[in-house]
Amino acid sequence: MALKRVFLLRSVAPRVAALSTKPQAQEQPPASPEAIRGCGAAKAVRPPVPDVDFTNTQEAYRSRRSWELVRNLLVLRLCASPVLLAHHEQLFQVARKLLGQRMFERLMKMTFYGHFVAGEDQESIRPLIRHNKAFGVGFILDYGVEEDLSPEEAERKEMESCTSEAERDGSGANKREKQYQVHPAFGDRRDGVISARTYFYANEAKCDNYMENLLQCIEASGGASDGGFSAIKLTALGRPQFLLQFSDVLTRWRRFFHQMAAEQGQAGRAAVDTKLEVAVLQDSIAKMGIASRAEIEGWFTPETLGVSGTVDLLDWNSLIDSRTRLSRHLVVPNVQTGQLEPLLSRFTEEEEQQMKRMLQRMDVLAKKAKEAGVRLMIDAEQSYFQPAISRLTLEMQRRFNVDKPFIFNTFQCYLKDAYDNVTLDMELARREGWCFGAKLVRGAYMAQERDRAVEIGYEDPINPTYEATNAMYHRANRGTRGWPGAKLR
Ligand SMILES: Cc1cc2nc3c(=O)[nH]c(=O)nc-3n(C[C@H](O)[C@H](O)[C@H](O)COP(=O)(O)OP(=O)(O)OC[C@H]3O[C@@H](n4cnc5c(N)ncnc54)[C@H](O)[C@@H]3O)c2cc1C
Repeated sequence: MALKRVFLLRSVAPRVAALSTKPQAQEQPPASPEAIRGCGAAKAVRPPVPDVDFTNTQEAYRSRRSWELVRNLLVLRLCASPVLLAHHEQLFQVARKLLGQRMFERLMKMTFYGHFVAGEDQESIRPLIRHNKAFGVGFILDYGVEEDLSPEEAERKEMESCTSEAERDGSGANKREKQYQVHPAFGDRRDGVISARTYFYANEAKCDNYMENLLQCIEASGGASDGGFSAIKLTALGRPQFLLQFSDVLTRWRRFFHQMAAEQGQAGRAAVDTKLEVAVLQDSIAKMGIASRAEIEGWFTPETLGVSGTVDLLDWNSLIDSRTRLSRHLVVPNVQTGQLEPLLSRFTEEEEQQMKRMLQRMDVLAKKAKEAGVRLMIDAEQSYFQPAISRLTLEMQRRFNVDKPFIFNTFQCYLKDAYDNVTLDMELARREGWCFGAKLVRGAYMAQERDRAVEIGYEDPINPTYEATNAMYHRANRGTRGWPGAKLR
């Protein structure tokens, strides 16, 4: 196994939104620096960064020297060659033999490494960050580490780490929907994906190791410049089984809400505009035999819903919150079998511990980021992990985005439900008074997602065309800018 520490730098395009959803009254400029509190206040002390117009290529590439542009073009062209990609290891071996190790390394640093990698430590990344900053280009520091793992090993690790103890011994865990079950043909998640890093779970010690590396990345980001970002992937921090199981639960719960909405004649509405009549909802649930009438009345009290008499998806989601014990006893209809099934699986003691440790690692990283003044971007990953990743990110935002946005979620606009996801999170931030932070992307896993949906047999989560993805991207972008109380940095 060859491990090498490198920091990858992603230039920040202006689609990173840090939005204040706090009441306007808290957003007045502070009287003095000590009084700085609230999302809007931070703007007053940060020197203005000139905006880069990315539609004007001459301006967008002003920070790059001519030889760098030639190098970048060459590297990207070479990377797009299927023949070269298929034989790159052999070609590297030949080049190493012909040039010798030192010359080979120099060549790599001048070409591929130089294009993709910012440096190996805090010191070496500084000049590039300073240079970019002078041209108004920010940065997101990503920890890149090479791990030699064969496709077979990757598949074996994935199958093992995505299956629960109860599923292994067949002792009656509820059956996950197809999308949230692991499949050997897609066990190697690196297939067909261009991404900074794919993590495979080995054991808890390895996750601690990844966490240490990410802590160093955050430190380097903080040490290199003010106002930087670090990117992390939650699949680095624990057993992916939990992400799959939790995603399954969240999706089934949400689908159940939409099923009820359709019964009330609200099919097709944007999630944030869908509001169910409580009395009708209670009737439907009682008829389905999911819970007794008295139990259902206890779910929807004035404390949980206010006096509106309606339930929206945010109220609905709050019922499943870890703070209530309701979900432990809850059954919902499985759309594939039509049977009522428990919403939550039972975990073994060890699995509970593993899940807690994953949350603890997230906590350690978020605290470190806050201490170092670094904003943390949580990358979006495969759609079968994403509902859980988004939900855990939201929990971190609630805790850490009190005065300003430290935790940024990522929304993939190639997903059919991207607009609903981004607007619901913004509305929740507005209601609860914390600062919303988001990165909008199109999405990096399209080919793999589509193949998986066809092979396993569930609805393709991706928009049907590139144009539809673009339309979703612009809609989400406009949606976040136009939200009440929103401020774009
Ligand atoms: C700073 C940064 C952070 C990123 N973080 C993430 C992340 O956390 N998670 C993530 O998934 N991606 C992430 N990405 C990747 C990003 O989403 C894009 O996939 C990637 O940048 C390629 O887009 P492009 O602009 O080069 O190509 P473009 O051609 O503009 O876009 C390609 C993308 O459009 C979509 N698309 C293309 N054709 C179709 C079609 N027929 N139907 C539907 N959709 C289509 C797909 O998403 C495809 O990947 C990140 C990228 C950057 C630069």
